[in-house]
Amino acid sequence: MGADVVWPDAAVCAASFSFDVDGEAAAIAADPATARSMSAMSHQAYGPLVGVARLLDILDHRRVRSTFFVPGATADRYPGVVRDIAAAGHEIAHHGYHHVTPTTLSPAEQAEQLDRGSDTLEQLTGLRPVGYRAPMWDLSWEMPGLLAERGFQYDSSLMDGDVPYALATRSERPGRAPLIEIPIQWALDDWEQYCYLPGVTELGPIQTPEHAVALWRSELDGMRRFGGCWVLTNHPFLSGRPGRAAALDALIAEVLELPDVWVAPLADIADRVRGSVGAPRAVAPIPSSMLRTAPRED
Ligand SMILES: [Zn+2]
Repeated sequence: MGADVVWPDAAVCAASFSFDVDGEAAAIAADPATARSMSAMSHQAYGPLVGVARLLDILDHRRVRSTFFVPGATADRYPGVVRDIAAAGHEIAHHGYHHVTPTTLSPAEQAEQLDRGSDTLEQLTGLRPVGYRAPMWDLSWEMPGLLAERGFQYDSSLMDGDVPYALATRSERPGRAPLIEIPIQWALDDWEQYCYLPGVTELGPIQTPEHAVALWRSELDGMRRFGGCWVLTNHPFLSGRPGRAAALDALIAEVLELPDVWVAPLADIADRVRGSVGAPRAVAPIPSSMLRTAPRED
């Protein structure tokens, strides 16, 4: 196991079932013209309208607490859904306001998206979110500092580790808890397996749940061997569909049976590791010397 992270109950690895409740916001951010398509919007609306309730039932039945990342715009459109998730005991976390990737925004615009999203979620749940996940997992170099300044406890958007770690930010202060990074990876996302939306994302072919679960299980097996933190990301507009939800339910039951895996929401994982992750890891931005320069004209 990396660092000195020790999981509860002598578990070898931690596992979290996280959900990104994108709704229409993700498709609109990718292409504003999508908003004109009632069909495309219905593809996305399936998440808050149908998928979330089904997934909440499954999680309740399995007695698993989870983390739901909700863009502010989606929360404003479906306030009752956000209240339902919170009332069921799950963590509500930040996923931008318009689901715009931070790398396309100025620092001031990133801050505005952060604050607007936090205000929306706080108005609905009474709690200010402590966790952040960048839309499209596309974190900017400025965002860790903006999160730390606002008291966020963790981010879950980066891919350079198996185990949570403290992420150095420009806003380090003596006595302030470090920002915890809880790493993710593309193989543990349902988007690549299931998402087919003509004109927006046409990855295809749509995979069977058996294929997706086999991939996710293989990564969990590896985490159990080497130690780590397995973070699965599902989208209710995708994995809320009946066959996929049934397969996810079976996977959750399987994971809960494993004696060496600790299942928890991401905020609990951040709390758990905060005291044992060591000094914050400083990640230097890419220097200009690594960028290809224009060819010389000899
Ligand atoms: Zn998203």
